[in-house]
Amino acid sequence: MAGQEARKVMRKAGEATTVVSLGHGLTLGGGDFAVIAGPCALENVEQVDKASAAVVAGGAHALRGGAFKPRTSPYSFQGLGEVGLKLLAEQGRKHRLPVVSEVMDVAQLPLMVDYVDVLQIGARNMHNFSLLRAVAKANRPVVLKRGFGATLEEWLLAAEYLLDGGNDQVVLCERGIRSFDTTLRNTLDLAGMAWVREHSKLPVIVDPSHSTGHQSLVIPMALAAAAAGADGLLVEVHPTPETALCDGPQALTPALFGQLMGTLPAILAATGRRFAGSTPLAAVGGTR
Ligand code: PEP
Ligand code: MN
Repeated sequence: MAGQEARKVMRKAGEATTVVSLGHGLTLGGGDFAVIAGPCALENVEQVDKASAAVVAGGAHALRGGAFKPRTSPYSFQGLGEVGLKLLAEQGRKHRLPVVSEVMDVAQLPLMVDYVDVLQIGARNMHNFSLLRAVAKANRPVVLKRGFGATLEEWLLAAEYLLDGGNDQVVLCERGIRSFDTTLRNTLDLAGMAWVREHSKLPVIVDPSHSTGHQSLVIPMALAAAAAGADGLLVEVHPTPETALCDGPQALTPALFGQLMGTLPAILAATGRRFAGSTPLAAVGGTR
């Protein structure tokens, strides 16, 4: 096995963070902060329309939504499949924003690349090495989530599969890990995020939704992630969380999403950064 220094995923001395192009001119890793937002699962025309309108109104930089859902129970809503992907792609075109959705299986890849700008590999699939190898060849940027039982080393080696397979357009996403405490859905490893951001050359974003499981904790953890240097967020927003078919308890309402987006600029300014696509502040020096 290659030593740490020889790995493609690690930052060599003085090396800049990889700039990942997500589509529609949005980049991650160049210093600006990007927010990817939308429902856990794409449910129907009205829900997708309202969720997209809400996150666009709040200033989101990319849209998310699951069409193939990795559910613990086979009896839970499994996602709309291609119908959902079509709805998401329509919203991307309408709002001129990149769309992100999870690919669960190698067999879904041809369909996924027809509809999405960015492929997400979920926590449960982080160790799926045949999926990683196939996604490396899919010619799409990737959001690679950390497995909930994965060490930082294992997460980075999963990313190494993508880079070694020829795709360096990879964004890492910390989404919480399992710990001895079961009060919250997961434990957000912000220090791990900051370590990975320092030692790897890939941009790192934080998912404050799955890492907490509670709506009331999403804004505080999102702000903490921004303060700790994350390159962006992946956050779940639902027009009516109480009716959501998946992950309602952790979904932000449109109003709460607006509140988050209104608060982030002050935190970003304090760390010398700004939202992707916003006018540079004369007072702000370098980007990282
Ligand atoms: C998701 O983002 O919808 C998701 C299923 O997340 P994770 O893979 O982190 O559980
Ligand atoms: Mn979810």
